[in-house]
Amino acid sequence: AKGSGVSGVSFFDHTANEGVERQHQIDLALKKAPIPGEFSLVYQPQYTAHSKQLIGMEALLRWNSSELGFVPPDAFISIAEENGVIIPLSEWVMKESIRQITEWNRRYGLSLAMGINISPLQLDDPRFVSKLDALLAEAGAEPKWINLEVTERSAMKGEKVLADLFKELSRRNISLSIDDFGTGYSSLSYLKRFEIDYLKIAKPLVDGLADNETDRQIVQAIVMIATALGLRTIAEGVEDESQLAILDHLGCDEIQGYFFGKPVNPQEFERLHLKRE
Ligand code: C2E
Ligand code: CA
Ligand code: CA
Repeated sequence: AKGSGVSGVSFFDHTANEGVERQHQIDLALKKAPIPGEFSLVYQPQYTAHSKQLIGMEALLRWNSSELGFVPPDAFISIAEENGVIIPLSEWVMKESIRQITEWNRRYGLSLAMGINISPLQLDDPRFVSKLDALLAEAGAEPKWINLEVTERSAMKGEKVLADLFKELSRRNISLSIDDFGTGYSSLSYLKRFEIDYLKIAKPLVDGLADNETDRQIVQAIVMIATALGLRTIAEGVEDESQLAILDHLGCDEIQGYFFGKPVNPQEFERLHLKRE
């Protein structure tokens, strides 16, 4: 074993135990991490594919742990869902991102939408909508400034409850996106039963656009289904001009990805995407 890591576990020792040990460290550090303290939000812009206009951004969580250093969301979100830390953490994410979009829309006279990632656990909370109402009222935000991103995973469970919840959100003009669409177990039938506004085309499909005919056909089919059902599409993980051109040609409405901008802190976001307006 080379290179001793935190608590003596080697970073280069790729045993099954190391994964477990790392997860244990993350679990313990998360339970102690002050909120917001060690956490912050970065924002990634979303532009229309054709006219290249800024329409909103997605809030993405960052954790700089005093014990573990920077830990990426893919390494801690699922653990936070298991140990329950996701609940207070998500409440802070919602509060802060709603505060931020209100500040920006007022300052710049815009009506941009803030994409907020919602954990399936939050949707189990019967007071989810009333909490959201309270946050909107507190910030003085308009509901149409909010776009909740849920995964197919959450969209597949507890059908009746979820359908009612989505209806409540729709009634308020809060929009809803199905995140990572086209990966995992897609059930097309729920698209009709649930009041959804956006399909967010998953990055792996976008990655294959330029040189994989099957991926291109799948994306084309997703855009066609969305059009037929009156939903809008946004592609994520768009990194270059050729992907953008193909997506625009296929009729995809909006684009998010490094091509238009990486996730950046609020000051950077303002400098790069708002002040130029
Ligand atoms: P996601 O919701 O699918 O977010 C998109 C991820 O793709 C982000 O990773 C973003 O930085 C990355 N990305 C965007 N454009 C590009 C690109 O052009 N190229 C490449 N290589 N990557 C791109 P990030 O920030 O590491 O987040 C990972 C996941 O963690 C998110 O996936 C989301 O599922 C979860 N997550 C992040 N923030 C939150 C949060 O506040 N709450 C919850 N529940 N989950 C969150
Ligand atoms: Ca997302
Ligand atoms: Ca996604």
